[in-house]
Amino acid sequence: MMSRMAALTPSELLDLYHDLHRHPELAFAEHRTAGIVAGLLRGHGFEVFEGIGGTGVVGVLGNGAGPRVLLRADMDGLPVTERTGLDYASTDTATTPEGVTSGVMHACGHDVHTACLVAACAELAARPEEWSGTLIACFQPAEEVGSGARAMLADDLFDRIGGPPDIVLGQHVMPFPIGTVNLTAGTAMAAADSLRIVLHGRGGHGSSPEATVDPVVMASAVVMRLQGIVSREVGAMESAVVTVGALRAGTQANIISDRAELLVNVRSFTADVRDRVLAAIHRVVEAECAASGAPAAPEFTSVASFPLTSNDADACERTGAVLAEILEQQRTDIEATGGAPAVISLPPLPGSEDVGELATAAGVPLVYWNLGGADPGAFAGMDLAAVTGMGSLPDGVAPNHSPHFAPVPQPTLDLGVALLVGAALDRLAREEEGA
Ligand code: ZN
Ligand code: ZN
Repeated sequence: MMSRMAALTPSELLDLYHDLHRHPELAFAEHRTAGIVAGLLRGHGFEVFEGIGGTGVVGVLGNGAGPRVLLRADMDGLPVTERTGLDYASTDTATTPEGVTSGVMHACGHDVHTACLVAACAELAARPEEWSGTLIACFQPAEEVGSGARAMLADDLFDRIGGPPDIVLGQHVMPFPIGTVNLTAGTAMAAADSLRIVLHGRGGHGSSPEATVDPVVMASAVVMRLQGIVSREVGAMESAVVTVGALRAGTQANIISDRAELLVNVRSFTADVRDRVLAAIHRVVEAECAASGAPAAPEFTSVASFPLTSNDADACERTGAVLAEILEQQRTDIEATGGAPAVISLPPLPGSEDVGELATAAGVPLVYWNLGGADPGAFAGMDLAAVTGMGSLPDGVAPNHSPHFAPVPQPTLDLGVALLVGAALDRLAREEEGA
């Protein structure tokens, strides 16, 4: 029999959040965070698996027959120097794999996700008489670089924890008003692909371009030509984004360099558009290199690849009703912030996530929602659908990845915990036994 263990108190939850926020760690370097999570899970009676996919941690709590429900949180911070001015702001620094040292910050709220999931685990462990089945708490590394979920899967995640789950549930804090949960059935977030493209020219003296193949001119033509993909090859009712985020070539005015490098980011909302846009990029780059007389073919490297985040429609309908019920139960706390309980369904967000890899690998439904963590007062009179791109947020509300990103800790944390617990209990309910 499981012994009854206390859930986290409100001050323990806030302390945990502040501690995680003060000490963010970059993708695949979440050693301190993973250690804290593992220790807490053990303390609440979970069987703990560490070092899955590098720094991933999974806690498993078996409680009789029933479904296997996986709750997922991501743990990594970002190479961003925090400028929130909060008394629990991070002053830590870290060095990226590319050798760049900068401030490191939980600028995407993964500390919220981690703290909420730890607290949800503690609460579910303290209420064993209310459920039956197996609770799987998956603390994933390296969401930001798009490879943490795949790293855990490649490290035999499901074999190591006794099999795949029956459903994957998770949440992401967003600068929506407190009390608002966004849950979109079907495509919820974009696929994202980042490519490094190296163009080869022939270097030489700046005074004698005729003896060279100038990669700066070649790269310029490529950048302009890439702009035609979305405008000329993607239909009016489809959408995609092609952004050249970096273009590097040369050192000084009188030298023609022998190479140029482009970093290209692609966002798409269907597999068909994704395939078409990626193929068009290859075609355009190869053709421009040929047109320039490049001495070697261009090189393409995938730097990051996020799948479409695709929520299961039936599972969303069921979980969405549960989330609405939980928000209703928390109405007093939400209204005290000036907000109101609301489950909304925005059009697909242009951001990307790798949580879908876990559900796809298990062949099971995904339900992934956004948790509002911003001061509702800032949104007075605004249409939320108009701020989905995060490009038109009200004053004082910073988007994810901003050095000013600062979710309001409470009641956001309490809501995040309650939603995870409610969504999990709905799937683990005793009456499901034998169903
Ligand atoms: Zn992020
Ligand atoms: Zn994130």
